[in-house]
Amino acid sequence: MSRDLILHHGTVLTHDPVQPVVDALAIRGARVWAIGTRAQVRAAAASDALEVDLGGRGVVPGLIDAHLHFELTAFAWQQVDAEAPTLAALQARVAARAAATPPEQWILGWGWDHNRWGGVLPDHRALDAAAPHHPVYLSAKSGHAGWANSAAMAAAGLQRAPAAVAGGEVCCQPDGRPTGVLLEAAMDLVTRVIPQPSLDDSVQAMDAAQDRALAAGLTGVHDLDGTRALAAWQVLRRQGRQRLRVCKSIPSHRLDEALALGLRTGLGDEWIRIGGVKFFADGALGPRTAWLLNPYEGESTYHGMPLWEPRELAAAVARADQGGLAVWVHAIGDRAGRETLDALAATRGAGVGGSCRRLRHRLEHAQLLHPDDQARLAPLGVVASVQPIHATSDMHIADQHWGQRAADAYAFAALLARGAVLAFGSDSPVETLSPLAGLHAAVTRRRADGSPGPDGWYPAQRLSIDAALRAYTIGPAYAAEEEQDKGTLAPGYLADLVVLDRPLAAVQAMELADLQVLGTMVGGAWRWRSHDFQVGDGHAC
Ligand SMILES: [Zn+2]
Repeated sequence: MSRDLILHHGTVLTHDPVQPVVDALAIRGARVWAIGTRAQVRAAAASDALEVDLGGRGVVPGLIDAHLHFELTAFAWQQVDAEAPTLAALQARVAARAAATPPEQWILGWGWDHNRWGGVLPDHRALDAAAPHHPVYLSAKSGHAGWANSAAMAAAGLQRAPAAVAGGEVCCQPDGRPTGVLLEAAMDLVTRVIPQPSLDDSVQAMDAAQDRALAAGLTGVHDLDGTRALAAWQVLRRQGRQRLRVCKSIPSHRLDEALALGLRTGLGDEWIRIGGVKFFADGALGPRTAWLLNPYEGESTYHGMPLWEPRELAAAVARADQGGLAVWVHAIGDRAGRETLDALAATRGAGVGGSCRRLRHRLEHAQLLHPDDQARLAPLGVVASVQPIHATSDMHIADQHWGQRAADAYAFAALLARGAVLAFGSDSPVETLSPLAGLHAAVTRRRADGSPGPDGWYPAQRLSIDAALRAYTIGPAYAAEEEQDKGTLAPGYLADLVVLDRPLAAVQAMELADLQVLGTMVGGAWRWRSHDFQVGDGHAC
């Protein structure tokens, strides 16, 4: 076994109820061996322990992103960055990529948001002008809309709109011809003709993406991508290249196969673990496909759209629960949240599931929840898997589409006050995966530029730094039934930690996003470091 490691001369937040702040910890193998003063951990560790002087810096338990799309993020980092401030800027980026790409080859991108360009949906002509000889397909920032140019539409046979698309919409001009913008399930019309990346493409992209995640302070992720990503994680593991821990969802269209195989939530270990089955109850706020109890602002009848019929969703959720699989249900609008909680409540009423345990089902996003429903999560034992960066990113569009109801949107403090467990994430690539940006958003309810003002957006929903940190550590660990291993730095827990340039207690709320990650340790080994800490050898120093 490797030598013990002692980190000392730091301000270590442990989440240990007896010793919440210590200045040293000893690590043996992959786990924390002792915490306390330097003298205490020295007494506990082997006499030849390596000692690392943290130079007065801060340490927090490893940060875990409870909701992101890791493979999509990895690919998005290789594609055109479509999150441009203006349409012209985006056209320039697409044109530059086209100049460097052989004709006929697909150009893909991620991140456009027409709300930043005045709110009018774009059409194929803007992309045709930038790249006339390449099929181009750009995913919207929400992930719930796509935008194709003429060559891409031709490749998909989309010169004329199909009669109707279940669960989606092909946007059309007044004369009936498609504009190139596709909503929800209609995106498949184009995405199915795009050449699929191979497993090896995934492995290479995800391997590189791990470094950026570690550099941001993440030690683990809950990955909501598809089955190829699960295969890729296993390849990385087998080849000794996995550096970031993962809890992996199962897509809902694989539910029956998973049940038939006898797969259960919790299979695996601290590196790769099977999480829940991911369902979509509705769409998203940006494209106004989130499903609401009352119509959108300015509409008399339009409520958004369910992506599952409530009765079918309830039946599928019940089957998953009976089979020992937790469910992670995407529910953004308040109607989707209510229907999902009704479905989850029915599983609790049914008594003991096939697994003889109370599964930790999750509501994903829960962006708008009626106050009556906010109070239902804790008694039902449902985790709120929410993304604080959405609150500040979406605030203006939430005000616009939801009006006064936005007071109950991204209501993290209300959920916490009503006893819900919060598990924070980023939804990357929809938003930056930086957990420090997420902490900043949760604590300030302001963007990095300070908007919308000193008190933030609906300041009653601000969290303390401590509560926000717990939602990025203990919360995700709890959501994955791993709170005995992760989220806390105490003897027996995994040595997953992040060194920050300052102790968290020394930081003002607005400075949270400026904190620098100096080193990220997973399982007792440095997986990423920007700084060489002073290393001493044993007790001699
Ligand atoms: Zn997501």
